[in-house]
Amino acid sequence: MENFQSLGLPAALLESLNKMGYTTPTPIQAQTIPLGLEGRDVIGSAQTGTGKTAAFGIPLINKLLTNSRGSALVLLPTRELAVQVMDVLKKMLNGNRSINTALLIGGEPMPPQFRQLQARPRLIVGTPGRINDHLTRGSLMLHDTNFLVLDETDRMLDMGFSIQLDKIFKFLPPVRQSLMFSATFPPAIVQMANRYLQNPERVAVGTSNTAAVKIKQELIFTTEGNKYNDLVKELEQREGSVIVFVKTKRGADKLCEKLNRQNHSADAIHGDLQQRRRERVINAFRNKQHRIMVATDIAARGLDIDHIRHVINYDLPQCPEDYIHRIGRTARAGAEGEALCLISPEDNGKWREIHKLMNPGGEPAARHPDAASARPARSRSGGGGRSGGGGFGGGARTSSGGANKSGGSSFGAKKPGGGFGGGRNAEGGAAAGAGAGGANKRPFRSGNRPQHSGASRPAKTA
Ligand code: AMP
Repeated sequence: MENFQSLGLPAALLESLNKMGYTTPTPIQAQTIPLGLEGRDVIGSAQTGTGKTAAFGIPLINKLLTNSRGSALVLLPTRELAVQVMDVLKKMLNGNRSINTALLIGGEPMPPQFRQLQARPRLIVGTPGRINDHLTRGSLMLHDTNFLVLDETDRMLDMGFSIQLDKIFKFLPPVRQSLMFSATFPPAIVQMANRYLQNPERVAVGTSNTAAVKIKQELIFTTEGNKYNDLVKELEQREGSVIVFVKTKRGADKLCEKLNRQNHSADAIHGDLQQRRRERVINAFRNKQHRIMVATDIAARGLDIDHIRHVINYDLPQCPEDYIHRIGRTARAGAEGEALCLISPEDNGKWREIHKLMNPGGEPAARHPDAASARPARSRSGGGGRSGGGGFGGGARTSSGGANKSGGSSFGAKKPGGGFGGGRNAEGGAAAGAGAGGANKRPFRSGNRPQHSGASRPAKTA
């Protein structure tokens, strides 16, 4: 499949794709769209940034346009993602007045959603909690829903939506087409696919992902005490929009305030903010009113803002897989991007897990040098004069003067098969590989935090 013209799509849809600037299918689109148009069930490992929305969106819109009956349901883990996906699908519908839509997301008042539902929508996009709420009230019927998309399924399970999804499936007719996407495939997802999909075809975007090849990844070994100053130094040296990821909501607010006090234009986003406020923050960042967005992991997945140049992991994520999603916020649609981790001695264990996920079977992660070291040592991909070490952080070492940086890791750029494998695979390859190997999405194995199987963990509060 070299272009969209050869697929026999309705002229209106081809026109929309043209308007959207989609001429050449991305790898996930090339794999998924023909299967989707054939009516096959699909299970795919690809994430946002790879063109996944159109991969399921084109067969979905095609089905709506070529049939006068039937409806489509798209389930996503977060409100932000639902808004974003609905936006893309509406663009594909290009103002078609005969197909009504409903965006059913939590945190929004019910009456407008009731109104959308009364208009008999044929395209419903939403989050599992609110969809269930409508199903229970009887305001939403799914008996004619013959096209289902589960997007970011691992994330939905991780957020505790497993039971909600099971309930939703009970309302769906048995004869339908289902497309399921997930970055990883822990047993809970495989079981779900076995239960609900019919002979699904597997598609994956791995090493062929060209968007993510352009993420340059670095790490700085620092200390909790020096971290903020290191961050500021990096912000001053870098150009372009930055997402800074932190662990907690309070941490996000505090860091944001501190940066603003030092005249860095920053805004914070986390799960405590009202939906409206979250949208305002995202829009302001999208429109470049702020250069820096300080975020908890709620913003890690799916956010599609093409001008994000840098992802800075001020705190490492709670689950190693979230690292992949975080860095995937940069280098969108073929643009270039950089990802930086600030690692303090306490992060050693987490860091090792991330390294292992990104570089399966590769060299061990660089250890944080003695915490007494005041100056940061840095490891950088493709940096001039730095010899490529092993995998992700494999060659990182202490540098008391901060100038001697030989032996830096080859974060992907120099080591296509492995290295900071995520360099190439950041949007799916590494995660898919880990998933295919049976790895569960899991929090870091440290302290007394239990391992979890993906399905049982309670909702995150980031
Ligand atoms: P997604 O993974 O769906 O979030 O898409 C990532 C970005 O790629 C979005 O900005 C899309 O508009 C863009 N995109 C998706 N498919 C194509 C395509 N075939 N041609 C050009 N851009 C695309």
